[in-house]
Amino acid sequence: MRSLKIRERGPELISCPTCGRTRIDLFSLAEKVENYVQTMETPLKIAVMGCVVNGPGEAREADIGVAGGNGVGIIFKKGKVWKKVSENELMDVFMAELEKMEDEGHKP
Ligand code: SF4
Repeated sequence: MRSLKIRERGPELISCPTCGRTRIDLFSLAEKVENYVQTMETPLKIAVMGCVVNGPGEAREADIGVAGGNGVGIIFKKGKVWKKVSENELMDVFMAELEKMEDEGHKP
């Protein structure tokens, strides 16, 4: 698992190393998420994973994460699927939830 600490404060981004199961353009997804989280202050652990089957479990330490492929996207929290959406909606729903968690200062 790769880990990228954006700043001293703020979120930490993790992504899977990708493998034969990767079902999504992980690089462009991770890039979009990375650009977005630059503005965030809350110390969330955010995961970007390549497949919906193993992604949540492999990134169970993440506060929130995304995975997708074959037209489906999921958002998971602490290893559990939180929402399933179409791949097209994935980034919008994910960003909205990140924004909410940022506003709430990530209170559970
Ligand atoms: S999350 Fe999926 S694509 Fe990424 S390394 Fe694990 S099995 Fe492979």
